[in-house]
Amino acid sequence: MPVKIKTCPVCGEEFETKNIRKMYCSIKCNNKVQKARRKERLERRKKEMGVAEVNYPKQRGAKRYSPEKAQATHDRQAEIERKARAAGMSYGQYQYKKYLAGLKGAE
Ligand SMILES: [Zn+2]
Repeated sequence: MPVKIKTCPVCGEEFETKNIRKMYCSIKCNNKVQKARRKERLERRKKEMGVAEVNYPKQRGAKRYSPEKAQATHDRQAEIERKARAAGMSYGQYQYKKYLAGLKGAE
């Protein structure tokens, strides 16, 4: 496919693409549009239902991805990793030791 130069409707940036269906320059701009569409849909639904809030039931088991939580998890693991290394152990060894200590403590 030939390379086409398109203009991103979100940020106005020009970008090259071989994909004729690609509309936005980046995932960031694409996300912006998706978010706006979601919001629009939600607003329309609220009007249809005549309510101030639409409470969709939470999907069972499916936790929403949160960058903050992912970062927190990463930080926690990095901290454990650091402690493990300081004690001359691997992450797994350290966690196992903690697990054993927890078993002893529970008795
Ligand atoms: Zn863009």
